[in-house]
Amino acid sequence: MPPLNVDDAQARVLARVRALETETVSVADAGGRVTADAVRAEVDLPPFASSAMDGFAVRAADLPGTLPVVARIPAGRPAGRPLAAGEAMAISTGGVVPDGADAVVPIEAVVQVDNSIEAVHAVAPGAHVRPRGGDVAAGEVVVEAGVRLGASQLGALAAAGVATLPCARRPRVAVLTTGTELARVGEPLAPGQVYESNGLMLAAALAAAGAVVELLPAVADDESAHREALGRGLQADVLVTSGGVSVGPHDLVRRIEAELGVEEVFWQVAVKPGKPVSFGVFGATLVFGLPGNPVSSLVGCELLVKPALRALQGLREPLPRFEPGRLASPLRRGEGRDELVRARTRLGPEGIVLEPLSGQESHMIVRAAAADALVLVTRGEGELPAGSLVSWLRLGPEL
Ligand code: AMP
Ligand code: MG
Repeated sequence: MPPLNVDDAQARVLARVRALETETVSVADAGGRVTADAVRAEVDLPPFASSAMDGFAVRAADLPGTLPVVARIPAGRPAGRPLAAGEAMAISTGGVVPDGADAVVPIEAVVQVDNSIEAVHAVAPGAHVRPRGGDVAAGEVVVEAGVRLGASQLGALAAAGVATLPCARRPRVAVLTTGTELARVGEPLAPGQVYESNGLMLAAALAAAGAVVELLPAVADDESAHREALGRGLQADVLVTSGGVSVGPHDLVRRIEAELGVEEVFWQVAVKPGKPVSFGVFGATLVFGLPGNPVSSLVGCELLVKPALRALQGLREPLPRFEPGRLASPLRRGEGRDELVRARTRLGPEGIVLEPLSGQESHMIVRAAAADALVLVTRGEGELPAGSLVSWLRLGPEL
């Protein structure tokens, strides 16, 4: 089978995803979770007609004029009686506008004399009063289904009185790195060793996408070690391996997975870096084999694994969101594969400009760490000149 196009590969992954079951989550723990249902307001918001200013609650019909101040209404302490014609009540921002009042005059708009106010201008009915339910009414939707909850959604849910809500269970993801050459960071490197870095990197990327990650100890390129560790990893919702999926004699991952009963859905995607990526299923477990070269692993994670995690959690748009931008310098196109080029973004007069970085080889994770964008260079002949309109994907932590 020739390498699949990226979008075909993504479609085959998503076709195998079954959304995870739902659980009830406290709003205090719901950051980063995905709503399983539309969530509705428990209360009107604001829950009562409230003042938008520090000022005086009045009847608009009484202004302009001089009015006695008959009560003071701090936030949280309603007046206890209605406002009568010809009266004013001092009121703080967030205070309950008393029955009988239909406007608030800001402090700045009056002259205070003894216990009265003089207002020389008229005020429109409703001025500076936030009507009850003006943001949302009880029973209306606060957050739709399939939305990942960030700070503003959490604030909205709490404000609307939502203490608990249904969210997709977080996917359990096992990460297994393979390679006899891998050393643990913090220990000295023996001849021929490199530090294991993909495990940490993938764990961070997947946790940020909502997963509960179990980082398994790295395994050497040894069949029985693979058998044992892969068998353990297959108990998760998703198993992500790094390394050992190419054509070398020590690349054992796909063979041992097949022995253990993994049904391979595809191997190899027409993308650079990251071509020798594999995907299979084992019961309900999704099984991704990412290549060992760190940048290949990162790209495979962005293009295939993170979309699967989003879909497992019921996100409505699971695919990576590419945005338009312009190249700052020319890029040569590859003939056989689409390429994802590491670049830095800057804001130009007409939008985002992408500056490709030097050092584009798939082992160069330090060069890649200076990038905040992956630029999609579709396959073809010749080069994309400076100024070309391209699609790019944001890399790095979501701020
Ligand atoms: P492989 O895909 O196993 O053939 O590995 C390709 C390259 O990636 C080799 O140079 C490996 O040493 C390197 N590599 C594999 N796994 C890791 C890892 N977990 N961390 C850092 N480098 C790795
Ligand atoms: Mg290897």
